[in-house]
Amino acid sequence: MSIEILPARLANQIAAGEVVERPASVVKELVENSLDAGATKIQIDIERGGHKLIRIRDNGKGIVKDELTLALSRHATSKLKSLDDLECISSLGFRGEALASISSVSRLTLSSKPAEQETAWQAFAEGRDMAVQVQPTAHPDGTTIEVKDLFFNTPARRKFLRTEKTEFSHIDELVKRIALSRFDVAITLTHNQKVVRQYRARAKADGVKRVAQVAGKVFEQQASYIESGSEGLMLVAWILPVGSPNSAQYTYVNGRMMRDKLILHAIRQAFEEVVGEQEIPGFVVYLEIDPRQVDVNVHPAKHEVRFHQARLVHDFIVQAIRQAVIPATQELNSASLN
Ligand code: ADP
Ligand code: MG
Repeated sequence: MSIEILPARLANQIAAGEVVERPASVVKELVENSLDAGATKIQIDIERGGHKLIRIRDNGKGIVKDELTLALSRHATSKLKSLDDLECISSLGFRGEALASISSVSRLTLSSKPAEQETAWQAFAEGRDMAVQVQPTAHPDGTTIEVKDLFFNTPARRKFLRTEKTEFSHIDELVKRIALSRFDVAITLTHNQKVVRQYRARAKADGVKRVAQVAGKVFEQQASYIESGSEGLMLVAWILPVGSPNSAQYTYVNGRMMRDKLILHAIRQAFEEVVGEQEIPGFVVYLEIDPRQVDVNVHPAKHEVRFHQARLVHDFIVQAIRQAVIPATQELNSASLN
């Protein structure tokens, strides 16, 4: 075979393999875009577990008409200009791949209206070259992305879709994780036109209310709250007492949800030092670290990060969590004695 450049759609479909595993991954990418666009209200509508429809509406800054085509193109992003930017990235996205990838494996339409633009426009990509069509539409300030028939043209991927119920439960879990990452954003999730979750915007001081709504009321009643460290390396957490049956566990680095091995290891170690090898109860842990001290470009879906000073970060977390484990556990013990 001779060497040829792949048609745009095919190249995007291949790239989609890395980030678009299932409907929940589409929701993740789109909601992260809404958050990056400064949205304070996000509506997520799902039909048939996301096989049929995923629609995300936001009230963010929108995309000007002239950039709609670019937004759907691969390696097009407004969030990064140079390698230096990547060293201290604060947005959730930066790879410029999500919309192009999703659009190559579904029927995607993008409608948007920046506040300063009088009319709204809609864009979608067609054919093997993914030529973008743009037409006028009606839309309030903000952006709506509609993804229909996910994987209709990639049978191998479609085969891996689970039942409607399973796919929706992945979406629901993802929305919970996102809801815990931004207390200040109102989020509504519907499935087959029924409201399933409704999180209203909360002030920072009321954060525990959001935590309780997402992770369980017991967080409001029994969790120890910790705030440790200072600018550049800070930890904020709600930790349930050992023995609590609630095992909701959430960790974030700079507002990005993670299941980071180093953080989980540090939490486990803090518990073990105090209470030995018992089951670890629920926790919600936020690490805020100088973005230059962490590399987020490790995994296409950004599930992992790499800390430049791994040891230091690990020990800092152990110290911080230990402070919370001790009082919470003592309280529980004395309560069970009475
Ligand atoms: P990335 O998020 O990595 O930049 P995406 O493919 O997800 O790449 O999005 C491409 C670009 O489209 C973004 O950089 C942003 O400028 C624009 N965009 C996408 N979604 C939205 C949205 N909901 N509101 C405003 N702009 C958006
Ligand atoms: Mg993105």
